[in-house]
Amino acid sequence: MLAPGSTIGILGGGQLGRMLAMAAAQLGYRCHIYAPESHSVAAEVSAEFTQATWDDATALATFASACDVITYEFENVPVGPLATLDQTKLAPAPSALEIAQDRLREKEFVTALGGQPAPFAPVMAQEDLAVAVAQIGAPGILKTRRDGYDGKGQWRINGAQDLPEITIPDSGLIYEGFVDFTCEFSVIMARGGDGEVCFWDSAHNTHKDGILARSTLPAPAIVGEQVQQARALTQKIAQELGYVGVLTVEFFATNDGPIFNEMAPRVHNSGHWTIEGAHISQFENHIRAISGAPLGDTTSVAANIVMENLIGESALDLAGHLSDPGAHVHLYGKGAARAGRKMGHITCVR
Ligand code: AMP
Repeated sequence: MLAPGSTIGILGGGQLGRMLAMAAAQLGYRCHIYAPESHSVAAEVSAEFTQATWDDATALATFASACDVITYEFENVPVGPLATLDQTKLAPAPSALEIAQDRLREKEFVTALGGQPAPFAPVMAQEDLAVAVAQIGAPGILKTRRDGYDGKGQWRINGAQDLPEITIPDSGLIYEGFVDFTCEFSVIMARGGDGEVCFWDSAHNTHKDGILARSTLPAPAIVGEQVQQARALTQKIAQELGYVGVLTVEFFATNDGPIFNEMAPRVHNSGHWTIEGAHISQFENHIRAISGAPLGDTTSVAANIVMENLIGESALDLAGHLSDPGAHVHLYGKGAARAGRKMGHITCVR
């Protein structure tokens, strides 16, 4: 187990890194953030900050030598440069990022493990789109294979008659059948280096414009009925990858059982409620897992918990948010509020 005072390296400088660093500080660890941007809200609460590009081999090597363990708060960290680092320091292993970075590989990987994603087909050239729509049907969603998040890089396809002319990136696209779901939920699991696992309760996640708006507990009954199957798949994914840390898998609850949507090899927005709503949060258990400490109790502390994201301009009304004395307000310290930008969140535990 890492001794207090050890340094945890975090690749990525956003709010997930900020909340990881705050959990690490509570356990007496120091964090060192590595990110390409000059302003990092994670670095603001950390001991060290390296601002360098992902492919700066010298900066990465210097950063790695200063860290006892290295983790990620951003799943699109390019994996190529990580290959030059001491692999025993990386948790989870970069293979988890490699799979999660490519929607096609991710769905093939999960299908091979017995999971059920939406029907999908690769679209690597314009003519593949008509073939994919004919094969899978419409409506559907066309997504970039790589670099999509929060609903970005997605096009709704209503039928074979309205196929868009799209500039297809080198990494290609994927066409998915539209899932008729009752609700969305995620499984958030922590796995220790010894293979021990624990799960938090699964909240009901609702989205607005492709971005998570709210996570609510308790979730509708259908989530309770499907969560065991979803957890079993999540555990299988983690086992296959020899995963260490927090792993999130998003699902659609449907009449045909839980449909896999996507996985994130990191702590997740739909788990922010665990800071005040669970005995030990996703952030602390991630830090515990990667530092070889025993995992903490994930049990929820109350029956009714709501986490609401603060998105865009309205997020900065701190006085307004604080007017509810029971609300746990988190602002991430981001300067410019833009439409669609996650600026903070509020959790209410009742
Ligand atoms: P994603 O970035 O793939 O998680 O997509 C963002 C959101 O779009 C999801 O949380 C869903 O609300 C919706 N969505 C994505 N893919 C599908 C699908 N195949 N069927 C229905 N809704 C979808």
